Amino acid sequence: MPGLLDWILGRLRPPHHKSRATGEGNFQSCIFCGAYSTSRSEFDIIWEDEEFVAFRDISPSAQHHIQLIPKIHIESVKELSKKDVKMLRRMEEIGHSILDTFNAPVSRRKMGFHIPPFYSVLHLHLHVQVLPYKSLVRRLKYPFVRGFGGYEKGLSWFVEIGQAIRILDKGECVTIAPC
Ligand SMILES: [Zn+2]
Ligand SMILES: [Zn+2]
Repeated sequence: MPGLLDWILGRLRPPHHKSRATGEGNFQSCIFCGAYSTSRSEFDIIWEDEEFVAFRDISPSAQHHIQLIPKIHIESVKELSKKDVKMLRRMEEIGHSILDTFNAPVSRRKMGFHIPPFYSVLHLHLHVQVLPYKSLVRRLKYPFVRGFGGYEKGLSWFVEIGQAIRILDKGECVTIAPC
């Protein structure tokens, strides 16, 4: 009875779950979907175009800490696949142009995503940071762990954007475990 199953799953899922198809966010259940709404002025927006918006993190972990998000509601990096590589390349490019405005040297730039369930707001957001971190505890929220033995990434709840692009480009998914 696929019809009944769909109905039950539809009830269990949060309403914004469908929004990738419609391109609309759910303002009630997702704080980041409100980031580009004029009624949500608490976001300090520093950059915006048709598809993406960037704003200052309200509790910066590093010297500069920006969140870059797609306007369309995508839950997390775990949902992405090979077809999303183009979007990530675009986000990387925007991130670097924001970091350019801070005159950040390459060695102090860091960009990446959290992998749920840890530390994450469930709307895809690229952390765009200029190091150093404000504390060791903050630094531990964004571990960049290199993979080995053919794996792109080691065990961690954070994936650097270059790692994410290479993993997805191979047709694999971004997960906490090595991939
Ligand atoms: Zn959202
Ligand atoms: Zn995050």
